[in-house]
Amino acid sequence: MGKMHLLSLDSEALGDFTAELGEPRYRSRQIREWMLRHFETDFERMTNLGKKLVEKLKETAEVSILTAKAMQVSKDGTRKWALATQDGHVFEMVLIPTENRRSLCVSSQIGCAMGCTFCRTATMGFIRNLTLGEILEQILLASRFLKETDGSRLSNVIFMGMGEPLHNLENVARACETLNAEDGFGIGKSHITVSTSGIVPRIREWAARAPDFKLAISLNGSNNDMRSSVMPVNRRWNIEALMDAADEYIHLTGQKLTFEYILIQGKTCTPEAARELRRIASQRNCKINLIPLNKGEDPALQPPSEEEILAFEAILKQGDFEVLRRRPRGPDILAACGQLAIPLKKVA
Ligand code: SAH
Ligand code: SF4
Repeated sequence: MGKMHLLSLDSEALGDFTAELGEPRYRSRQIREWMLRHFETDFERMTNLGKKLVEKLKETAEVSILTAKAMQVSKDGTRKWALATQDGHVFEMVLIPTENRRSLCVSSQIGCAMGCTFCRTATMGFIRNLTLGEILEQILLASRFLKETDGSRLSNVIFMGMGEPLHNLENVARACETLNAEDGFGIGKSHITVSTSGIVPRIREWAARAPDFKLAISLNGSNNDMRSSVMPVNRRWNIEALMDAADEYIHLTGQKLTFEYILIQGKTCTPEAARELRRIASQRNCKINLIPLNKGEDPALQPPSEEEILAFEAILKQGDFEVLRRRPRGPDILAACGQLAIPLKKVA
């Protein structure tokens, strides 16, 4: 029988597990503290557990189920890890340091089913959802790395790595809860963001299930023809359906929504598109994150010139909502938005 994966258990389930080992419940709190506060995965180093329990844990349980296969460092300080699962798949996570932030871009799936034309992850197709433990171990690994290198802590977690997080809703919601829990990683709710390509029924579900975390919606087109041409999901749920769900989300949660908008030369980055986007954004409590295209395989998709971006921004800024431009981080190691992909399906 396989070992019990302790990172996948919430406090109560971990308490049940230690009880089954004949140990008092406070032991589970100690184990949780080692994992989520000290980022420890080796039972031998959990020094207050007692020898007997450490031996039992080594036989029956494990904390780490991922193996770091490679780590690349960009000239801007961004780091990308390739992580292998026990069943032989590989996915990526990206750590983005800025002056006062340490943001981790985590994956929720291996590959992605959504088929957005500008995104390299789409070329992998969908392989499988990550488990709760696999999601949380990304945070553990990055936190341990920061602790051991400059003693800093992770400040933000963004579900913007591989995959559509709302297609793995329950695991992502539970991961967010552990990230935020006081006896968990202790990261503030407003510092945890989930980004979706626009799965309308799941946005409603998310609003009910996890209303306190931040939600970003990848809009990426200002009308249905434009959005459908780059995001197949728009043929299932068009902009009108998406905005209905967005408004319900804003109403139900009281949160400001972020719309991400990719800038592609001649397609999504035109003055007409800027006016359409301004109209959409003006109607609701939201902000716009502009993301100039990071170039992928398709030669037909090019980033706009700086002039074109400035002209687009100028039109948007006439609206009374916040507009931010996301600077690419780690493009030299293919770590920027939409650049994550593992060409091999299985590790040799
Ligand atoms: N799968 C989720 C989150 C991951 S991508 C989603 O699609 O929302 C995070 C953001 O990067 C999304 O808004 C996505 O539209 C954008 N993106 C994807 N590929 C990109 C590329 N090549 N250049 C710039 N942004 C890209
Ligand atoms: Fe999937 Fe997001 Fe890439 Fe679209 S942009 S293919 S939803 S990871």
